Amino acid sequence: MRVLFAASEAYPLIKTGGLGDVIHGLPMALNNKGVDVRLVLPAYRSLMNKIESLQIIGRFEVAGANRTHMVQVIESRFNGTGIPLLLIDVPELFDRDGGPYLHLDGHDWPDNAERFSVFSRAVAELSMDVINSGWSADIVHCHDWQTGLVPAFLQNIPSAPKSIFTIHNLAYAGLFNYESFASLGFPPEWWSPELIEFYDSMSMLKAGILFADEVTTVSPRYAYEITTPEFGHGMDGVLRSVEHKLVGILNGIDHDTWDPQSDVTLAQNYSINSDYVAGKRANKKALFAELGLSTDKTSLEKPLLGFVGRLVEQKGIDLILELIPQLMRRHDLNIVILGSGHEHYEIELTEMMGHYPENLSVEIGYSERRAHLIEAAADLFLMPSRFEPCGLNQLYSLCYGTLPIVHYAGGLADSVVDATVENIDTRQATGFHFYTPDVDAFYGAVERALKMFQDKRLWNQLIETAMAQDFSWEHSSEDYISLYNSLDISTDAN
Ligand code: ADP
Repeated sequence: MRVLFAASEAYPLIKTGGLGDVIHGLPMALNNKGVDVRLVLPAYRSLMNKIESLQIIGRFEVAGANRTHMVQVIESRFNGTGIPLLLIDVPELFDRDGGPYLHLDGHDWPDNAERFSVFSRAVAELSMDVINSGWSADIVHCHDWQTGLVPAFLQNIPSAPKSIFTIHNLAYAGLFNYESFASLGFPPEWWSPELIEFYDSMSMLKAGILFADEVTTVSPRYAYEITTPEFGHGMDGVLRSVEHKLVGILNGIDHDTWDPQSDVTLAQNYSINSDYVAGKRANKKALFAELGLSTDKTSLEKPLLGFVGRLVEQKGIDLILELIPQLMRRHDLNIVILGSGHEHYEIELTEMMGHYPENLSVEIGYSERRAHLIEAAADLFLMPSRFEPCGLNQLYSLCYGTLPIVHYAGGLADSVVDATVENIDTRQATGFHFYTPDVDAFYGAVERALKMFQDKRLWNQLIETAMAQDFSWEHSSEDYISLYNSLDISTDAN
């Protein structure tokens, strides 16, 4: 089975969030299971700087915004594996400083519609071997709005591969105005509410949802939630109309990168079988030393609450901001926060640190290494996300013996088992739920956790149950293989 993975990020080459992690662990797991998988990404400047050996394997023309681009296809290997990595090189669109979607000043690139339309057209062509390489795809597996047009470009072509579209976050709909739509040379009939028009814009996400043969999202609960008005971002009607082809598959963890037993970024490795209490304590000490917090015995004994993530409304940052003064007033604990995002949250969190310099550390920025250390060092991990398609940090937390406190939504609900009396008795409890995204409910869950933290025997039981969970890609990739196998693939290609 030949599968072309098309995405706009893949760790460690380019990553802004969970999508990048998935387009690392999943193709590697599929490759290990014998799927002939190839990965295609845009040839961003920062990514090209990380690629060592490469080869130009083809050139072809693709329509852009009132102009035509020459696409160069560059081949390399993905992350030292046998997986071929194909890069869509269009220098005028991708060879620039800044992020994959944003200018250095934080604004969207003004030509994003053209950038990802050209990328999607190139992927569609490549999947049908426009470059005569001898490899064409049975399935194109597209991820998020940046690749949503691929299934649209493949429709009605008899020899086209099947397409799967995975929604990693419905909140990002890839919306562009009519002017962009008209400039990109799409069939005029696409501008219709039945097709890719969405409230007076075009939505690349909607294109993926409508035209793909199968639509997946990253947890079973989110697959249900997005068909409801509460979580549907206006797309719930569209999603209800495709319910027959919509399925949720929980993301996995890539244990090459996230495993406390072998994680090279940690001060001390540990596992469920070795002394995880001492291991976590050593990492807490190292983290506190780096952050300038006290490394006294009493400080290390206090519960440490961690947060790592994008500072956006989705993640419930306002709830954390409201929670901190209440917690600091009534409890003796430490909190460590790492994140970047909306400026007003960055400013408010930094100001908050000024009020509690001994017990609160806020680092504005992005640091893979520090994220790993926080996961290992913390006792509790805060994830009050209003909605969460899957969420990876709570999976990393479980694996690192750091109990997550989560709003009961999406993948958080699917992966964390609440520490109720019954779940504790049956040794299933791994964390703490709260059911409404408000500070009172959040505070209640944190208090519950802090109380249990005092009972070391119980706490160690919870840690051991959390660390014993299997959220590996080994497991989740099987569900994707079953989905691939369920598609009616003609075997006469190649
Ligand atoms: P999302 O994709 O919505 O951002 P996820 O929980 O699915 O959220 O994935 C977030 C990923 O990005 C995790 O690997 C997390 O550690 C990482 N991450 C987010 N913000 C930062 C940061 N400031 N520094 C380091 N890693 C971060």
